[in-house]
Formats: sequence, structure tokens, C-alpha cells
Amino acid sequence: LSGKSVIFIVNVDPNIPNRLSGDEVRVRQVLTNLLGNAVKYTDEGFIKLSVTAASVADDNSLLSYESLLLLKFVVADSGIGIQEKDIEVLFDRFARVDTSHNSSIVGTGLGLTIVQNLCRMMNGNISVSSEYGKGSVFTAELIQYCESTEKFAEVENAAARSVLLYEPVKMYADSLEYTLTELGLGAKLKRADDEAEFLSEFLKDKYDYAFFTSGAAALAAEAKRAENIKTETVVLQKANEPVTKGPLSGGPVTGIAMPAFAISIANILNGISNNGTDNEHEVTFTAPAARVLIVDDLKVNLKVADGLLKPYQMRVDMCLSGREAISAVCDNRYDLIFLDHMMPEMDGIETIAEIRKLGGGTYKELPIVALTANAMVGMREMFLASGFNDYLAKPIELHKLNEVLAHWLPLEKQKKIERQSNEWGAQPFSRKLPDIYKIDIDFGIRATGGNEENYVEILKLFSQDTRKRIVTMEKLANMEPPDLLTLAANAHAVKGVAASIGAAEVSEFAKELELAGKRGDVEIVNLRFVPFIEELKKTIDSVDGALKVFNSFTTVADGGNNKLKFEDLDALKQALEAYDMFTFDELLTKLQQSGLDGEGKKALEEVSNFVLVADVDNAINVLDNLMFR
Ligand code: ATP
Ligand code: MG
Repeated sequence: LSGKSVIFIVNVDPNIPNRLSGDEVRVRQVLTNLLGNAVKYTDEGFIKLSVTAASVADDNSLLSYESLLLLKFVVADSGIGIQEKDIEVLFDRFARVDTSHNSSIVGTGLGLTIVQNLCRMMNGNISVSSEYGKGSVFTAELIQYCESTEKFAEVENAAARSVLLYEPVKMYADSLEYTLTELGLGAKLKRADDEAEFLSEFLKDKYDYAFFTSGAAALAAEAKRAENIKTETVVLQKANEPVTKGPLSGGPVTGIAMPAFAISIANILNGISNNGTDNEHEVTFTAPAARVLIVDDLKVNLKVADGLLKPYQMRVDMCLSGREAISAVCDNRYDLIFLDHMMPEMDGIETIAEIRKLGGGTYKELPIVALTANAMVGMREMFLASGFNDYLAKPIELHKLNEVLAHWLPLEKQKKIERQSNEWGAQPFSRKLPDIYKIDIDFGIRATGGNEENYVEILKLFSQDTRKRIVTMEKLANMEPPDLLTLAANAHAVKGVAASIGAAEVSEFAKELELAGKRGDVEIVNLRFVPFIEELKKTIDSVDGALKVFNSFTTVADGGNNKLKFEDLDALKQALEAYDMFTFDELLTKLQQSGLDGEGKKALEEVSNFVLVADVDNAINVLDNLMFR
């Protein structure tokens, strides 16, 4: 939703059982298609996802083990809507309706056909209602098995708890009211209509909890301190808002990211804090004496993992292949290894088998954690059976990483972090990167370790890797017959990295191709490949543009008393790319005469030497390294 003023609401009925069995991949596909459409065809207003379940069991109970239930997804939007005459053809193959209005939007018109087929395969169906110009409502139903007798979110002693709620955005407030009511807290829920009412209710100090917009946080903090109010406070944190930090007099603030899911709300009410938006709180210790190895065939992924591990202050080594990993293990003593599952030549499973055999079994006990971009049911068992101690799904979630490290690193090397109480108030957060096409930058920064410089390096690697990969994928797709499996492996790599940097949509797109490739579904690949590559190119072009802006804030290489500027190097690169040797010579001479010494001077000599032997590619590489490292 980046760049659009659309709010996203999620209402999931907490009474749904906490384990269902069904085809996760297909269910996901249904949802991503419907949500993807909603995003594509809505420019302002809202998108709302509601999930409910109905029993199809004889006893009418939702929570009976192994019974069937009908899971219902409703995706409503306030977008362009669909004309009545178009509704009947909507599910036909390649139907793209109202093209005069949305000719600029990419699509094949196949999404809904697939969704309908998937729903029917799962013994359900899809329906739509729409008001042209106002919005659409898609309802998808499908059958699932209930695998549990517990609800997926439940609050202890719910009826006795009282909650004060103040949120000026009505749809958010309605959604919270819905969830709190379904969780059983409806009876003692008070919704304040404005700040004055909120404050006067809050000052009565008669509520167990107050949930309020971050706009009222400073006010509430002050009141709480001055009047010694005991009500537990929960700040509603919207996307694009700086994360609220610091104690509301005493205990740390609980923040909850909007849209708030039933499970996070229940966790807070059950006293399990989930500071999902706050990096620092995920890291509970440092381990400067520990040494870990990360193995992944993609530099970008190494960089992401390295960024995430920074706060732990460990010594981190990296390798790009299973072979390298094996020799690194022989030469060093590691406390923990993170090993990528899918690698060319030697994959994670083969690598671990070798490591476990080394030195007559010296490394039998060495903790090795699998990294995987395929988080599916049964994964865990598969990894454990292959000799891994644990596994982490990519994109790596910070609290899971903390859990894994805390569990597998030697206890004597872990130093607990004592938290100091920060000043209350929103932390100003200024970013140098401009907006990037369909990338949630704030998410990306958080998901890669919370540091913009590091994120920028990751973006650079992403762009370089993806450019090469696009060429490869185009070759594979144009072969006769196309090499779908290798194509799937490439799409898999794109999927993982894209997800880590906050490019969720392109990641989903890559996943769709990965799955189609693995299934050998030529038809889907033929249809979806070109739009996918187009999206990918748009993304990396936009990334490159943003990197330029970012780098223009910095001088890039030390040339002694004279610094080399990004713009100058960029001009040099552009001249090379255009084979404009005249301009290139002119620029280079000017730079070389500007009295450089040190690193900058050496690098420019290198560039000049490459150009002399007509090796423009390597000359550009040297410049890239100067500009983007
Ligand atoms: P694809 O999903 O294959 O990339 P697509 O989105 O165009 O392409 P479908 O998902 O099958 O194809 O949707 C078919 C058509 O229905 C769309 O082109 C669009 O005109 C219309 N449509 C789908 N969802 C919505 C929506 N939420 N609001 C308005 N129009 C929609
Ligand atoms: Mg679609």
C-alpha cells in the first residue's frame, strides 16, 4: 500500500480453531490474488479483510477435532468497482474489464479464474458484489479440517476486563471494537469519541486497559505520571508513524501495530508483551565472545543476516557455498552455524551431512540452523531428520532469531541486556532514501537489522544480483523447451531477497512463478513471466534511482585531501556505459588532476587501465564498488 492513502483493516474472528489443515499454498494463493486485486484497483479509502468460519459439523461446533468447517474470506475495498454487466464475465479466462479506466494497471485477467478454480477444488466457491465507482466485495469460501479444540486467540477471564478505547480513525476503531468484542471483552468496553472524552475517562482510573492512538500518547503519559494512574496503556501504532518508545511512567510501553490482529491483542491482554515493531526489544542479550558462521549462496542474504546479527556483537564469518563452509568449519571453532537450504552444487542437506562426518564426528554436536525461504508444514521435521538442530524461515523474524540464538549459543557467552528507561516520546526518524516503487522501506530497514546504511548495501546487492538474474531467467524461459526447474530456482532466490527488503508484492509474484515452474506449468509461466520481469525491472530501476539519491548525500571515496564525489563517479560510469570515450577521457583527466591521493587515486588508475584494454565491464565494476559499497 506504499504511496497510497489506503488503510488496511484485518478482522479475524478469534473463535476460529488454532489449527486447521488444508492446502496452505492454495489458500495463500486465493488470498494474495484477492488482496492484490484490491490493492491494484483501490487508490484511496480502505481495504478490509475479514476471516470467519462456520461449522459444517452435525453438532454445529467450530471446535471439534477432525470436523469440517467452512472458512470464509471477505475482501472489501473502496476502489473503482465493477459494472454489473462485467460481473458475469469476471471469472472467465483473460477477462479484464473496464479497460478504459485501468489500462495502466498490469494484469493478465487470469487471477480470478485461478482463484475460482482453487476455491472449487477446496469444495468452496467465490462470489462478488460491487457498486461501480464505490468499491467491491469478494467472498471466497473453502472447506478446511479442524485440527484443534482451542480457539486461535483467547483472553483469560475476558468478561471481567474493562477497556477504554480511543482511536479517531473510525475504521480502525470499529475493527478493534469487533476484535475486543469477539474476544469476550465487549461488556466493559468504552469507546471514547474524542480526545477530551478519552482524557476524562482515562483520569477516572477505572479501566484495566486503555488502547489509544499514538497522537494521544504524550498526553496520556503526562496524565498517567501526574495522577499516578494504574490503567495499563497500549499505544496503537500506525504504519509510517515513528515507533513510540519509552516508559509511560514505570513499565515499558506496549505498542501494537495497526492493523492489529486478534492474536496480538490477546497477547497483550494476557500479559505477554509483543513489541513486534521495536527492534531493540527483540534483542535480549549480546555475545561478543561467540563466533558464528553464515552460509548462503547469495551475497544479499548474507548481508541481511549479518545486519540482523549486528546487535549481538558476535564475530560473524560468511561463506558463499557449502564447500567453503566445510573448510571454514575445519579451520575455526564456531558456536553456531546458519546454513542456507537451497544452494547450487552442494545444498544445505549435503553440506550438513559432510560437516557431521568431519574429523570422525567432532562436529556432531555443533548447532546448525537451517535457513529456508520455504516455510511449509513438515519443514521442521525434514530439517531435524537431516541433522539440523533448528530452522529459521526467511525473511528472518527478529524475535525468532533471538529465540534461536538464546537457545543454541553457550549460556556462558550470553550477556543479558539491562534496559534503561528511555525518555518517553516518539523518536524522530529521518531517512535519506526516497520512496521506492512498491517497496516498504521502513519494513525493509527493520527486517534487515534496523540500520539504513546496511539496508542500502543490501539494496545495492539486490539490484546487482537481480539484473544478472533477469538475463539468466530470460534465457531459461526462452529455451525450447523452457528450463522450468532452473527458472523456479531463480524465482525462489528473488522471492527470498525481495521479501527481506520489503518488496512483498514482487516476492509473491516470484513465488507464483517458482511454484508454477516446479509444477511444470508452462501455461502459467508463459503468461506470467513477462509481467513478472517487467515488475522486477521497475523495482530495480527504482532502487537504483533511490540509491543515487542516497549516495548524493555522501562523498564516497577518500582521495586524500580531496574527496571523490558520487556525482562525478556516476558521470564517469554513464560515459562508459554510453561508450562515450571522449567525455570519459575528459572527466577522468579532470578528476586525476584534482590532486587525489590514496584510495581514490588507485581506483581511478584501475579504471583507466581496464579501459585501456577495452574491458569496460570491469571498469564499471570498479566504479560501482566505489559508489555503492
Ligand atoms: P492478474 O491477476 O492475472 O495479474 P488481473 O488482476 O487483471 O490480472 P483478475 O484478477 O482475473 O485479473 O481480475 C480480472 C479483472 O477484474 C481485472 O482486470 C479488473 O478489471 C477486475 N477486478 C478484479 N478485482 C477488482 C477489484 N477489487 N476492483 C475492481 N475491479 C476488479
Ligand atoms: Mg488479479
